[in-house]
Amino acid sequence: MSETGFGFELPPHLVTLRDTVEDFVRDEIVPAERSIPPEARGMPSDLIARLQDKARAIGLWCLDAPEEYGGGGLSSLEFVIAAEAGSKHRFCFPQPGGGAFGHPPPIVLYSGTAEQIERYVVPSIRNGWYGFTAIAEATGGSDPARAIRTTAARDGDSYVINGTKMWITHADYARYGVVYARTENGISAFVVDAGTPGMEVVRSLPVLRDHWPTEVRFDNCRIPAGNLIGAEGKGLELAGKWLQRARLLYAARAVGIAEESLRIAADWARERETFGAALATRQAIQFAVAESRIDVNAARWLVWEAAWKHDRDEDIRLQATIAKAGAVDAASRTVDRMIQIMGAMGLSRELPLEAWYRDLRTAKILEGSSEMLRIFIARAELGPAASARNPKQT
Ligand SMILES: Cc1cc2nc3c(=O)[nH]c(=O)nc-3n(C[C@H](O)[C@H](O)[C@H](O)COP(=O)(O)OP(=O)(O)OC[C@H]3O[C@@H](n4cnc5c(N)ncnc54)[C@H](O)[C@@H]3O)c2cc1C
Repeated sequence: MSETGFGFELPPHLVTLRDTVEDFVRDEIVPAERSIPPEARGMPSDLIARLQDKARAIGLWCLDAPEEYGGGGLSSLEFVIAAEAGSKHRFCFPQPGGGAFGHPPPIVLYSGTAEQIERYVVPSIRNGWYGFTAIAEATGGSDPARAIRTTAARDGDSYVINGTKMWITHADYARYGVVYARTENGISAFVVDAGTPGMEVVRSLPVLRDHWPTEVRFDNCRIPAGNLIGAEGKGLELAGKWLQRARLLYAARAVGIAEESLRIAADWARERETFGAALATRQAIQFAVAESRIDVNAARWLVWEAAWKHDRDEDIRLQATIAKAGAVDAASRTVDRMIQIMGAMGLSRELPLEAWYRDLRTAKILEGSSEMLRIFIARAELGPAASARNPKQT
């Protein structure tokens, strides 16, 4: 830290946190992933349970969840550093550690009542329960305020939910989920227990990435009125409040993947010989490595800056959006280049690069698609002019 109080080096406690997580990933998670067949789409639950026991024993459990509910209570900066380190392995989507570091609840529940926190947040952290978040529908995910057709009608002490949610992650083994539905005065968020009559996980939806989402149907699904989270009609505002943290996680994970793919391919380039010399001696390879180093470092600064501002209680809507868009794109370019450097081995399922390539392509659609993020950034830059109607448009 310089005399001005401004510095670019991590203080010792953050170095220790990063190294502890990185060591766990390298010594425990990577060997566990290597022990399962290359065609597997995730780690089996008994393997995850064993990893969870070990991670818990050294304090790597639900790191970003508030301490008062049993989580690690990390600040945003601490969390992105842990998330980057915790993502240097194959099944780091949808969660760093593949679930080994626990499953913090859908974060809008932190805005719930004391009873909701007691009933869902605390046991999720204590027992590793999964919870799902259901916003998207077949009618679209980018513009939920208009697209959501699922309804929740008040009936005495209950709400009755009807509709179908698409692309929902974790619903097939979650204990509960947060469901966004249309009420009289807007979109509201509700917590729904798995197994409630009328709620059915209809099918898995095979997609590019290994972890498949699901279709979830609600057919006269009656839930207690007390399952409303926050105020009626304010569900999307609530989701927006927590979105920044989710984007930071995506961005940090992208940086971790990019850094690790660079390390793997650089090692390869030093050893692999073609035409009598190591690949590392070829300028085409050097440029790919150099471009990637520039990408990774720039992305990391975007993430750290957003997290640092978050910890200072600044409004980071713009910063987190830039970080997510920048880091996912930088990581996508990097992994693509590193696969190219490694040739067939880069595409092989013996290594995680091909999975990361698919994960990062998927990440351009989730937690704000590339286009939605750019619209937000452009509006912040251009002001009202960006929203004015183009007179040439009809
Ligand atoms: C693997 C996976 C897991 C998912 N998990 C969940 C989950 O757990 N919970 C959940 O609720 N949802 C989940 N989703 C859904 C996800 O949130 C949506 O796919 C996402 O919001 C985009 O919605 P859409 O696919 O309906 O695309 P659309 O909203 O139909 O958009 C289609 C394309 O058009 C672009 N576009 C839209 N509007 C504009 C515009 N004005 N200008 C320019 N371009 C525009 C979009 O960026 C996108 O590229 C998941 C999806 C996948 C693939």
